Amino acid sequence: MNILSRNPLSTTIAALSLSATILGIHANQATASLGGNATPPPTTIANSADGLCATPYTIKKGDTLSLIAKRNSGNIFDYVNIVRVTNDVAKSDKRFAPINNINVIRVGQMLCLAKAKATPAGAIPTQITVVMDDAHTPQGAANAGHGPAHWAYNGDAGPAKWGDLSSEFAACKTGQEQSPIDLSKANLRDISNISFNYQPSKINILNNGHTIQVNYDEGSYIVVDGKRYDLLQYHFHAPSEHSVNGKLADAEVHFVHKAADGTLAVVGVLLVQGPDNASLKTVWDNLPTTQGPVKTLTATTNAKELIPPSQTTYRYNGSLTTPPCSEGVKWHVMTQSMQISAAQIKAFTNLFPVSNRPIQPLFSRTLDLDSTP
Ligand SMILES: [Zn+2]
Repeated sequence: MNILSRNPLSTTIAALSLSATILGIHANQATASLGGNATPPPTTIANSADGLCATPYTIKKGDTLSLIAKRNSGNIFDYVNIVRVTNDVAKSDKRFAPINNINVIRVGQMLCLAKAKATPAGAIPTQITVVMDDAHTPQGAANAGHGPAHWAYNGDAGPAKWGDLSSEFAACKTGQEQSPIDLSKANLRDISNISFNYQPSKINILNNGHTIQVNYDEGSYIVVDGKRYDLLQYHFHAPSEHSVNGKLADAEVHFVHKAADGTLAVVGVLLVQGPDNASLKTVWDNLPTTQGPVKTLTATTNAKELIPPSQTTYRYNGSLTTPPCSEGVKWHVMTQSMQISAAQIKAFTNLFPVSNRPIQPLFSRTLDLDSTP
């Protein structure tokens, strides 16, 4: 290969690094432009009344709204315009689905590529507060597994295909330490108990298109073997993801924690049908029925009430149970289950008929079971 044929490749790599840098600072710029007198980024205020939906665009694998906007108008912030115009058009033209959560645009979904129009002098780009590009915010990163590529629990984007949907999801197919697993044939060991330090939190609730998630206020954490993991959020699956001796429970709640070094630790609690679980009531009374951004309620939740009294756990090294299926996750599944009523299960499965990944092979991992309370 001669030097001339290598040059175009270097140029492409340089261009890719540049756009990655732009995306990396994207959310900060959006926030900064709202806080003070910084020059508003150029954006447009076009809508369908302006007849600016001449060029529908079909979402392809790997697209993000920011990248489409940048290609279309040269301005990554112009995704705000695309969302507004598309949603406007969707009211009358059923070929266009409204974009309720820009983080979960679907392959095949059609967008209106609005013609870029300069912002009038002095205009405040309030649109940017309306639509946050969640994938590029720290909170978006915390919602691990809910990235831009569309995935599902059945059909063409179901669990067997996750690893093929995006190169970022490769671990779903090739990983050797995946979750969930069947909890059986465990090694009995005397394991130190988890120290739970949970405080009440405001209910910051969202329907992310796959489950109901409650983001937890800062300050609650667990300590495992001397290491602190801060509670980020809890969310639900029905039926359960982990099985015990081959049997699934009716549901499972996952408490997702992160240590200062980035290590994730999840505490899983199996839920079996019984009387109403009063600790779920406030969250269940406020289940968002459609996918959308976080809503903060005045009511509070205390994750402590959802943890069973017995401290015995199963422990193993696993992964996120949703794409990108990243490994290195410390799993702790409580052996004692909690209860949830048939009506509560139905309220959840009405929104999400299936939300559990199939059981994954243990391969060469060991599964430990605490031998002492
Ligand atoms: Zn989960």
